Amino acid sequence: MPVAATIPAPGLADVEAARERIAGIVEHTAMTASASLTEQCGVPVLLKLEHRQVTGSFKLRGAANAVALLPETDRSRGVVAASTGNHGRALAQAARRHGIRAVICMSRLVPENKLAEIRRLGAEVRIVGSSQDEAQEEVDRLVAQEGMVMVPPFDHADIIAGQGTIGLEIVEQAPDTEMILVPLSGGGLAAGIAVAARALKPSIRVIGITMRRGAAMKASLDAGRPVQVREYPSLADSLGGGIGLDNRLTFAMCRALLDEVVLLDEAEIAEGIRHLYRHESEIAEGAGAVGVAALLSGRVRPQGPVVAVISGRNIDMELHRRIVCGENPFGEEAP
Ligand SMILES: *Cc1c(COP(=O)(O)O)cnc(C)c1O
Repeated sequence: MPVAATIPAPGLADVEAARERIAGIVEHTAMTASASLTEQCGVPVLLKLEHRQVTGSFKLRGAANAVALLPETDRSRGVVAASTGNHGRALAQAARRHGIRAVICMSRLVPENKLAEIRRLGAEVRIVGSSQDEAQEEVDRLVAQEGMVMVPPFDHADIIAGQGTIGLEIVEQAPDTEMILVPLSGGGLAAGIAVAARALKPSIRVIGITMRRGAAMKASLDAGRPVQVREYPSLADSLGGGIGLDNRLTFAMCRALLDEVVLLDEAEIAEGIRHLYRHESEIAEGAGAVGVAALLSGRVRPQGPVVAVISGRNIDMELHRRIVCGENPFGEEAP
């Protein structure tokens, strides 16, 4: 059944309830100080190591919360989602825990390593078209014709509340945080973190970071309404996809709660991946490295103690090796 037409945006109480609900399923991830970035930026820089989350990205927080909140009648119908990989993997994991059928629809831009893992978790994978929006059409069909329940990757109150649990952890782990750098695509992660962190500490600035290639939320914020942008291959493949022309929650929340959105070139994202590997001994995917990349490139002016959320680690290891060896697989320039 499609989600209802009007849903109130989640707030701090929803995020706190989500934390209780998913406590046994997700990791409370570590936060570490980065000596190299602290020296380079002149302010304390901390890394929220969310790429070490179960399934390799933060997406399990939202998926676990949403699946736990499904009524019994919906569970028997199975869950379905469009995903660039990490949401599909997280939903597959959450569904398996509850013994629920899961179907994941994705475009053929999604790398092979992400597909294999979703299949391993017992979900059915359907490859449809070359954009997130085309994959979404298959989801809509399964909902309409087979009665499956859609669990969307970002524009859903329970998903946003689940992702927001990272915001609670950040403020508890580093109460003097002044700025949080959040990878931004559909905006579920940024909206959730911002709503939780700013409720606890209103002075915190939350900056969304994304790739220049196909930055749908940035284009939408500039236009004052959700707009569609062309999709391109990017090192930050998990940041691909539109925000939905009928976006109900994340667009308004990002407009209200984000202080700024910063765009990065492919070469800058590659540099973030390299830095995390060489100086922090961490393997991050492109989307996970954008906060560090924004600091290294000087595109963010860091204030006070800064937290960069490392959101995922699901990168093809051969691609990672090439980047670490100095290649920029998608070139230097934005198209
Ligand atoms: C999904 C994802 C993001 C972006 O999250 P949104 O809620 O869509 O903004 C960032 N990083 C990784 C690793 C992701 O999987």
